[in-house]
Amino acid sequence: MCAASGDRTPPIRLSLRSRLIPLNLTLNLNLLLRTQGTGALMGKITIKQGDITKEAVDVIINAANTRLAGGGGVDGAIHRAAGPSVMEECRVIGRCPTGQAVMTGAGRLTAKKIIHTPGPVWKGGERGEADLLRDCYVNSFALAHKAGLKTIAFPAISTGVYGYPVKEAAIIAIDEGIRHLPWFEEIVYVCFSERDLEVYKKTYEGCRS
Ligand code: ADP
Repeated sequence: MCAASGDRTPPIRLSLRSRLIPLNLTLNLNLLLRTQGTGALMGKITIKQGDITKEAVDVIINAANTRLAGGGGVDGAIHRAAGPSVMEECRVIGRCPTGQAVMTGAGRLTAKKIIHTPGPVWKGGERGEADLLRDCYVNSFALAHKAGLKTIAFPAISTGVYGYPVKEAAIIAIDEGIRHLPWFEEIVYVCFSERDLEVYKKTYEGCRS
């Protein structure tokens, strides 16, 4: 079952998501708004290098394909580590459109659940890729929140075979992480390569400065 639009209300509603406002200003405003009243962030963001299948979180996100058929990259790694029960659940669900999200059990993984979300294929940036990638994060957060899951780990969705530029993808991933942090105890970004780790760290620092 894909996350319905009614599940997608973010914890903080900003009317500032205008293309006229520089992204870093939007991010800084997000941080300011979230800290109002409490003086502290509600959850934490962790950026690390590693293999997402090893993450001891409530839910890991899979950069799936729309047929939920498994494949290479992180999708293949997750299915190999989780075992056949997850593929069987995917087979029953059938399909998931790009940007939407579905949840299964996690088989042999330490995580309790897997959320499968097909990211967009990069076609130059003028074909709605950014909105679709943002949908992946928004719908995954919504599904996890609805299930009461508190710790969540993401790979760099779409940045492998699907070719999305890592820096642009990291901005969306971290922007949505910051917006949804009040729902979670920890949001983990698991970068596979050292290069991606550096890009994510720089992007995060850019959000905070
Ligand atoms: P997509 O088709 O969405 O581009 P890929 O699996 O090809 O998905 O790549 C998405 C990202 O996942 C890439 O940054 C890739 O390096 C990374 N990745 C591959 N295997 C793993 C893994 N085991 N843990 C975390 N990230 C991984």
